[in-house]
Amino acid sequence: MRILLIGQPGAGKGTQAVLLAAQLSIRHISAGDLFREHIDQGTELGRNAHTHMRAGLLVPDEVTIAVMKERLARPDTEHGFLLDGFPRSLAQAQALDGILADAESRLDAVLDLEIPEADVVRRIAGRWLCRRSREHIFHVDYSPPEVAGVCDVCGGELYQRDDDRETTVRRRLEVYRSETAPVVDHYQAAGLVTTVSALGQVQEVLDRALAAIGRDEADASGASGS
Ligand code: AMP
Repeated sequence: MRILLIGQPGAGKGTQAVLLAAQLSIRHISAGDLFREHIDQGTELGRNAHTHMRAGLLVPDEVTIAVMKERLARPDTEHGFLLDGFPRSLAQAQALDGILADAESRLDAVLDLEIPEADVVRRIAGRWLCRRSREHIFHVDYSPPEVAGVCDVCGGELYQRDDDRETTVRRRLEVYRSETAPVVDHYQAAGLVTTVSALGQVQEVLDRALAAIGRDEADASGASGS
């Protein structure tokens, strides 16, 4: 399956992306994680991306599209993927459509995780991420780690993202409205979008997302990944 996961900042996109990809046995590809890898490695691309990320802005389209084009060309995406946080602008969506058309491939579904804006800042401000795995995410209220600052799963150090401060989150919400909402409209016109409420427990949201693509957990655990 080829799925896009779209959602406002704070909708729990990263958490759901990891769980969905595991359930469906498809590759999870996060544009934000790819940029954070570059930042950790100190590459020029990473330094450039970090300037935009810290300000709550999108990394320029040509950089983002080049990174994702290279990532999608790797063989581990052959049997499907879940794109988390890409495309985030209309230009990126058109570029993705072109990449898929060239590969004679197409998207199966677009999931739009929806959350009231009033909940966004509170959810993001309490978020702690695992530096070692990048995939384990905790929240001081909703899913606190057993030991503060330490990942329950792998013992990695937990940290807060520097773009998770309130003013930056508000900027990210504005960017979402102006740049990313048109991406949802673009795929809506193609009949691919299902809106999934991001409210409630992690498992409830996952169940809704799986139902939206016609899979329940029992189906998904036996998925072939194609
Ligand atoms: P995320 O981890 O998905 O929340 O992304 C973190 C930040 O990385 C975003 O706020 C953007 O600054 C940048 N970013 C991630 N994905 C994209 C994208 N598709 N286009 C441009 N910038 C992106």
